[in-house]
Amino acid sequence: MRYGKRWMARRGGRDDQGLGAGARTAPGCPGPCARIRSRPVLPTVRRGVPSKGGRQVPLGGDSRRVPAGRRGNGTIPRGAVSHGEVLGDCPAHVCRGPEGCGGLTRPPQASARHSCIRARVRGVRVCWLVPRRAGPVVRSPSASQVRVVLGQNPGLQTGPGTNTYLVGGDRLILIDTGAGVPAYDPLLQEALSELKGNLSLILLSHGHVDHIGGLPSVRRLHPQAVARMFPGETPVSAIEPMADGEFLRHDGITLQAIHTPGHATDHLCFYWLEERALFSGDLILGEGTAVIPRVGGSLIDYLASLERLRTLDIRRIYPGHGPVIEDPPAKITEYIEHRRMRERQVLEALHAGVRTIREMVARIYAEVPGGLHPLAEESVWNHLVKLEGEGRVRRFQVSGRETYELLREPDL
Ligand SMILES: [Zn+2]
Repeated sequence: MRYGKRWMARRGGRDDQGLGAGARTAPGCPGPCARIRSRPVLPTVRRGVPSKGGRQVPLGGDSRRVPAGRRGNGTIPRGAVSHGEVLGDCPAHVCRGPEGCGGLTRPPQASARHSCIRARVRGVRVCWLVPRRAGPVVRSPSASQVRVVLGQNPGLQTGPGTNTYLVGGDRLILIDTGAGVPAYDPLLQEALSELKGNLSLILLSHGHVDHIGGLPSVRRLHPQAVARMFPGETPVSAIEPMADGEFLRHDGITLQAIHTPGHATDHLCFYWLEERALFSGDLILGEGTAVIPRVGGSLIDYLASLERLRTLDIRRIYPGHGPVIEDPPAKITEYIEHRRMRERQVLEALHAGVRTIREMVARIYAEVPGGLHPLAEESVWNHLVKLEGEGRVRRFQVSGRETYELLREPDL
């Protein structure tokens, strides 16, 4: 996944501007990082793109699934990042030297405020700077508490990382568990002690690794907590199933599970009745757009899920990645329009004689970093499945290559 223009605006409006002019405090970042000035020595990679004109990059988290009951591998999700690229929610950090952290101009200050997570990506050591503390408490209209604890798994696909949410009072609910990055556990514990509550329920939006990978370690810390999710293909004995439409009343909070496939077959959103708020997982993101993966994804289901959410009175969305969404109807409409636009672009490409998915992506996603093209190919594949089902496109093989053509003139 990747970010659109608001992300760029926080960085100074241009993705090739360097950090000095644009470094600002990002949401959830406590402040002093805004004063850290550093400029990348190595070339930065195009990473944010304008959202107008169909150039918004698809996002959607890490779609690798965790085998039932297994812990995540504790590493940063792999992505096509390059040395020198800035990732994470804090715009002040750049990886410079071979050891990764050499680019910080005020490392002591930064280290007090942030965690530096290192990884080797495509043979290059890179690091991300992410807020060390849990995010601020969001006061809801009914004075219930929602606290964001970032999963400490920033990356090209996950943005600043997975949002996990603590909701409630004495008996807290945790929605999603991050990817299983060890740095997450102390943050969760810190947030729980500040909220003076006990974790008693874990709800999982879907089975992708960046949402469920932290479950084993959270359970070790809180063995009394019950975990629930929509049943997937592989039954997980230690997780209680949650059905579509099921109401869950917990410590004064009423949540309704809404089965919303499209990004993943087992995807649930959680509608908070008292707040008219939605925990949207990876169906709707705070920035960018969601990936419709080839495995487990379905554009038809995805659009149906968005239409279903349109029927709810939603005042706020807490997404699985990115900032809180304060205008849900507009965002849902934007997502539906975005898919329609992509469909038009696929039809236009076919009309222009483009025949393979790879060529379509090269044309449609020209401004998107090449490292994200494989994800974009999965979304385009899902568009073609939909068009094929509607009798508008035909699929055939040419020299072993999947090839497509229009069956009738598109109504563009
Ligand atoms: Zn996902």
